[in-house]
Amino acid sequence: MSLTVLMNAGPWLSVPPPGYGGIENVVATLVPELRRLGVRVVLASVDTSALPVDELVSVFPDGQFSALQRPYNQVCGVAQAHLAGVVRELHSRDDIDLVHDHVEAVGLATLAAMGPDAPPALHTLHWDLAKHPALYGHLDGGDRVRVNGVSASQVARAPQALREHSVGHVHLATPLAVDALRQPRPLTGDHVVVLGRINPGKGQDVAARLAHRCGFPLVLAGPVGPYHRPQDLAAAGDEARQNPDVRFFLDEVAPHVDGDRVRWVGTVAGRDRDDLVASARVTLFPLRWEEPGGTAVVESLALGTPVVATARGCLPELIDHGRTGLLTDDEEQLGELVLAAGRIDPTECRREAAARFTPAVMAQRYVELYERVRQLASAR
Ligand code: UDP
Repeated sequence: MSLTVLMNAGPWLSVPPPGYGGIENVVATLVPELRRLGVRVVLASVDTSALPVDELVSVFPDGQFSALQRPYNQVCGVAQAHLAGVVRELHSRDDIDLVHDHVEAVGLATLAAMGPDAPPALHTLHWDLAKHPALYGHLDGGDRVRVNGVSASQVARAPQALREHSVGHVHLATPLAVDALRQPRPLTGDHVVVLGRINPGKGQDVAARLAHRCGFPLVLAGPVGPYHRPQDLAAAGDEARQNPDVRFFLDEVAPHVDGDRVRWVGTVAGRDRDDLVASARVTLFPLRWEEPGGTAVVESLALGTPVVATARGCLPELIDHGRTGLLTDDEEQLGELVLAAGRIDPTECRREAAARFTPAVMAQRYVELYERVRQLASAR
């Protein structure tokens, strides 16, 4: 296939990301498979990106992850500076067939403003957009700019202007799903794990409360705001409370953390993360927001660990209730479901991941969307 895609991964982190990194992880998972399918990939990112691509266009000096901790308008400023570089690049060349953009909100508006001669663009939505309709209010790219979600529920909940430009959704994938069925079964421990940023939407406070009430050991893995290790948060002092996720943790979660029944272990990465999840009896998602994509959900399935979750956002699309996990609308029921999840067969979880959530499945689907976006643009 002769198709050159400019993949815009944004100004935040290098690709692949050094640790936590949602968009950057998606791009790092997708690009090698696209290239295997014959797509030429030009990556617009930061200087430090090391992902093998056909061409790296460095449109920003270095990762600006710390900017994520600033107020949103400043974060947008960083994204806009990055996008100015992308637009300059696009004006200087004629070999780009399509832009695949991952920079929230401003990416879409900027690409829409580029005019009819610019290449068609597909913008992937990564957020729960119902809360941010204003950010996407300026979409006017005609048929040249299209969007896709990371789940059907995310698209369905998106503001009208976005839904009108949607070409569908592509579920997230994980390299762990490749050969998932051939991985040896680890010894399953007794613990339940919650994997994700510590944040009210992810519901770690609910998990901690239920662990005490129902009597299961709970491990909370993930960063609290910018703090990846418990000792770093402890050393930060009162200033740390300026971050809302820190306040949530200290006020709502930490009172339940006793270092025994309930533990917070900070961010776990690489092999440690996989072992923690693979040996857990259940991965628990007591969600209070409409989870848009749920990378940690598909990772859990790939590692053979059943998922217990509130049935919000993309969860009903990813989890086959009764076969790969248990879902409920009532968060108070989650504790009972954790205790009942022993009847879920880990092999079914792995089978589901190997069939639906591999990078190859995701790349194939994106290639179809690229074709669709180009057709729609050329039919103008
Ligand atoms: N993650 C991790 N270590 C942690 C907590 C999270 O590696 O301690 C990873 C997790 O495995 C997943 C990503 O961070 O790959 C979170 O993505 P997800 O889509 O689940 O949530 P988001 O933070 O993007 O809302």
